[in-house]
Parts: sequence; structure tokens; C-alpha cells
Amino acid sequence: MEQKNMYYDLGISEKVYQFGEEIVRNLQERFQEIDKISEYNQLKVLKAMQDNRVAEAHFAATTGYGYNDMGRETLERIYADCFHTEAALVRPQITCGTHALAVALSANLRPGDELLSPVGKPYDTLEEVIGIRDSIGSLKEYGITYAQVDLLEDGAFDYEGIKRAVNERTKLVTIQRSKGYQTRPTLSVERIGELIAFIKSIKPDVICMVDNCYGEFVETKEPSDVGADMIVGSLIKNPGGGLAPIGGYICGTKRCVEQCAYRLSAPGLGQEVGANLGILPAFYQGFFLAPTVVAGALKGAIFAANVYEKLGFSVVPNATESRHDIIQAVTFGTPEGVIEFCKGIQAAAPVDSYVTPEPWDMPGYDAPVIMAAGAFVQGSSIELSADGPIKPPYAVYFQGGLTWYHAKLGILMSLQKLVEAGIVTL
Ligand SMILES: *Cc1c(COP(=O)(O)O)cnc(C)c1O
Repeated sequence: MEQKNMYYDLGISEKVYQFGEEIVRNLQERFQEIDKISEYNQLKVLKAMQDNRVAEAHFAATTGYGYNDMGRETLERIYADCFHTEAALVRPQITCGTHALAVALSANLRPGDELLSPVGKPYDTLEEVIGIRDSIGSLKEYGITYAQVDLLEDGAFDYEGIKRAVNERTKLVTIQRSKGYQTRPTLSVERIGELIAFIKSIKPDVICMVDNCYGEFVETKEPSDVGADMIVGSLIKNPGGGLAPIGGYICGTKRCVEQCAYRLSAPGLGQEVGANLGILPAFYQGFFLAPTVVAGALKGAIFAANVYEKLGFSVVPNATESRHDIIQAVTFGTPEGVIEFCKGIQAAAPVDSYVTPEPWDMPGYDAPVIMAAGAFVQGSSIELSADGPIKPPYAVYFQGGLTWYHAKLGILMSLQKLVEAGIVTL
């Protein structure tokens, strides 16, 4: 049976299929670049695993307090070695990215300290962690203040503004690598390095933390290679490789990670406790697969950018620019555009393909959000997923895809839905 007939069987029309094929033909060179980065990162992970003498014994379950958990300790060494940091905390007890970031912040800040974001507003869920929006248990409730310097109109760092904002109380600087729910550009590792160097030249002892969500393995370097004291992320995004069913990580200096461990468990306990409950094989194998999975997701994002830019929609990043995270934003300008796009992503999923996504009021967000995800792991956004807050400019954020072929089908299906709804004409 011809390949295109499989697409027709899945609900893709001849016109949509041909439109997609034409675009894929022109992306071969970019795909090769992605494969090269992926190859490098695969070797980086392998080297860290071999250096740490990974063995079957490391996959064993521990229970209770989880003292002397060899598997957990070795996995944390692997993360630290791979990301070139002194220490790492990689735990199923860290429930998600927001939790990892909340731990990293609250562990390293004390009453009277100030937190600074020199790259504009942080990710929505962090607004409540910080207390930008009042919330129970926020840093603000503990007397930790927050300052923010926005990026300049053209996306550049406001160096003057940052210089003015750094003061004697500035203890920690948070830098979000990915654009999150914004249409600003994602920061490259190189730019993050420049920003950190500038901040340290003003105040050498300030802690520079990078929210690394969605950025891992997109480049051959990570922010920890360019001066970050801590990098933080979620295991149901890039580094879990689609296999980790929960978890988060914090990699960084021994001092910072130690503070995090005491905050995560309890003063006096720290990194020594935290049973793995048998989850480690998925963490190890997911990390091993992550470079390849990230490459598939990146190809999907670039395909989407090229499809929707050609159709006249505003896309960030655009069709040709370099990539620093796996997120693709497409601005439709109407709620219907966002909703039809998400319906297509859902309809292409291996799980729950028959359900229709609807906007809902999610905890941590200030507008209804529509989410499409037919994922093996609930809410996993390294799996093919799309979400968008139902508010202007009505942009959808698309990410993931455990394989390029699935990401491709998802984008074709999104286009199919837009065509069927009369929003797009081919
Ligand atoms: C996803 C994300 C978070 C929060 O992670 P959750 O796992 O959803 O809690 C924080 N920052 C950025 C940039 C993210 O992409």
C-alpha cells in the first residue's frame, strides 16, 4: 500500500498531504543539522552513563526512607556529569517543572532577599510561586521581594535597566530560556551566557538560575556550560525522553543543590532520603532516549513553522531561524483558530484520539486554556501536545512528538481541521 493512502486513511486529504510533502522536501538540510546535534548529545549521555558504570543493580526499587539508594545516586551523578555541574537532584518526588522551580527558589532565598528576572515576565505558574499574583505559600508571603526587567522592544537585554535593578538584596536571578506562553524569542545558550557574565560582573556572588524547561538537548551546550549556578526542568518534558512518568531535576553547584535537597525533604535529611519506588528504569532509559526524542520534536516544530508561515500566519520562531527550545508558537488571531488546531493535534494522537479538547480554567493560569494531548503520560509535553490560553493574541503553542512521523501527522491533521472549518484555504 502506498504511504499516502495511509495518510488518507487517517483523515488527511490529498491537498493537505501534498502541501505538507512539498514543505518537507525543502527541509532536508535543516533536518540533517538537527540529527548532528542529536548525535553529539547521544554520545554525551552515553559517556556519562559509562563513566558512572551503570549496571542492572541501579534499576532496583527502594522503599521507605530510601537510604543508600545506589540507583538514585548514580542517576544524579549522570545528570551532573552530562550537564557539567557539581551536583544534581533528580527525583520522582519533584512533581513537575513548577515544583522543581519552586524548590530551587525557596531553597536558595531567605526573607529579605530579592529575586530578579532580567528577561521579563516568567512562566504563568511561577507568578503564583513568586507572588506576582497573590497565592498561598508564595515567596512574597515569606518576605522575599521580586523585581523584573523586561526585554527591550527588539528582544535585546536591557543592560542599563538590569544594572539599575541589581541591588544589595538581589540574591538570585532567574532566567527563563524558553518563551513559554509569550511570543518573545527563546534565548540561545550563548545569549544566556552573555547575560550571566554581565550580571556576575555587577554582582559576582548572585545565584544565576535558568529555567531550562523545553531547552534540554536542543543545542550541544546547556546553560550550565556558560555559567548558570542552577538549571531546572521537568522530566515530563525533554530529559525524560517520554518515558519518565513524573519528576523534575535541579543541576548545579554543590551548595545550591544541597539547599534544594534540604528544602525538598526536610532540614537534617536532605539528599539522603527519597525512595525510588521502582521508577528508575524509566528515568535512565528516558534520559538515554532524550536526544533522539528531542530531535523528532524539533523537526515537528520546524515543519509546523514552515506550514503556517507559508499560509500567512505569524509564527515564532519563524520558518528559517535557529532553534533553542522545542516550542512553536502560531498566532491565529481568533479563538476558533486555536481550537481547531488543537482538535487536529488531538485527533492525531495514539491515545484519546476520539475525544474533543475544550478550553477550561486550569489551576495556575489566569485565562481558560485549551490543551490537546493524547499522551501515554498525563500532561506530558514532550509527547505531541498543543495548548493555548484563550486570550489575545490567540496564539497556540505546539510542542513535542516522541517521533518525527507522529509530529508530522499531528501538524497535517491540524491543517486538515483548519481547512474543514473554513479558516484556511489551500
Ligand atoms: C512547562 C514549564 C514550566 C512549568 O512546568 P510544569 O511541569 O508544567 O509545572 C516552567 N517554565 C517553563 C518555561 C515551562 O515551559
